[in-house]
Amino acid sequence: MNVHKLSLPNRSECKSYTLFIDRDGVINQPIIDDYAKKPEDFIFCEGALDALIQLKKMMGRVILVTNQQGIQKGVMSEKNLEDVHLKMYNALKSNVEYFDLALFAPYLKDQNHAWRKPNTGMCLKAKEYFPDIDFTKAIMVGDSPSDMALAEPFNVLKVRIRNSQFSFDNQDFTFNSLADFVTKLSN
Ligand SMILES: [Mg+2]
Repeated sequence: MNVHKLSLPNRSECKSYTLFIDRDGVINQPIIDDYAKKPEDFIFCEGALDALIQLKKMMGRVILVTNQQGIQKGVMSEKNLEDVHLKMYNALKSNVEYFDLALFAPYLKDQNHAWRKPNTGMCLKAKEYFPDIDFTKAIMVGDSPSDMALAEPFNVLKVRIRNSQFSFDNQDFTFNSLADFVTKLSN
């Protein structure tokens, strides 16, 4: 067994790590059976804004990987998603490059598209952008089984942010919030 999988990097090791981060339920409050279709719908989880700022400073890379099937359902457009993300970027007082890469899968669940989590397309695309990504030095932080499934084939460390909507137990570590995760990494 790879020892790496069993421990989070210490503070100094974080700079060599890539963080893959889910959005809904991790960065912003999840909306049950609906989508953040406009900026007003996007509300940061408690402490998540500061946590993101810390993560950007600490980690080698931060890559957003988010399913957004509301787009292909036709209930929102890519422009709507851009507007929502602009709210996030503006809150971070930064530009759209805040994340080293921000990927979204607009595809419907039933399409089983390679990009849509639990499938692995977004990780593979990230690797195309940054060939030096070392998946054994990577963390996926998310709140759902599909986030864990994205990480699994690459042996990426699986960090779960608790969301009572989902029940699963194949994560490596669990935290109540992104803020709690960052506190742990900072120690
Ligand atoms: Mg989520």
